[in-house]
Amino acid sequence: MSTSIAIDGPAGAGKSTIARLVAKKLHFIYVDTGAMYRAMGLHFHKRGIAPDDEAAISAACKEADISITYQDGVQQVLLNGENVTEYLRTEEAGKMASATSGYADVREKLVELQKKLAASENVVMDGRDIGTVVLPGADVKIYLTASVETRAKRRFLELEEKKIPCKLEEIAADIEKRDYQDMHREHSPLRKAEDAIYLDSSDMSIRQVSDAIIDALMEKLAKRRVPDRNLEGALEEIIKKECGQI
Ligand code: C5P
Repeated sequence: MSTSIAIDGPAGAGKSTIARLVAKKLHFIYVDTGAMYRAMGLHFHKRGIAPDDEAAISAACKEADISITYQDGVQQVLLNGENVTEYLRTEEAGKMASATSGYADVREKLVELQKKLAASENVVMDGRDIGTVVLPGADVKIYLTASVETRAKRRFLELEEKKIPCKLEEIAADIEKRDYQDMHREHSPLRKAEDAIYLDSSDMSIRQVSDAIIDALMEKLAKRRVPDRNLEGALEEIIKKECGQI
């Protein structure tokens, strides 16, 4: 039986930073599901498909073979056998992902892959529908958010550091638009799962957020009654070591 942590929330809330850190501390695999939607977006973009052409998107979905591998613990996304990881953070891939992630055929294909990954490995998985649709039975569910101002400022500083010209107001407007799209789509809209822990990271450090998640997992493991305690024992030891408790 594998253990899973689901982290959902809007764009720019710090999900990937936190998920990567928690996965590293626990020796779990980090699954970035946004990267899969971006790879799908790239596939449509490469074929010159308009994001509103649902019939073409559905047909192209059937020809997209997306798989995940890990290189030195870092997720690599293969699209029809080609490693496309370095192209996933581009503006085109992001925009196309956002515009096409609402289609049922796109979601069906990627959710199946995500479920398979979590069935065989201990995972920290982040996205928009992990606690609600992909892993409704996750051991710990987190809804991680932050104010629009905080998220825009973080993104602004990131781009400034990379010397990419940008305007704070435009970034904030783009974040609000993406939030709206993700929260109001018909299929798997972004929402907090009823049993998810709500964390607003606006005034929390990365350490505080990751500690809160690891504490929630420890609490869950302490309560879980399963005949085979091997996995729990091993996990607790890793967690305690990481937290400096042993
Ligand atoms: O998280 P990231 O910005 O990389 O995700 C790109 C896009 O993929 C998001 O704007 C969202 O529309 C979509 N997505 C999704 N469900 C997920 C992860 C991402 O719809 N589980």
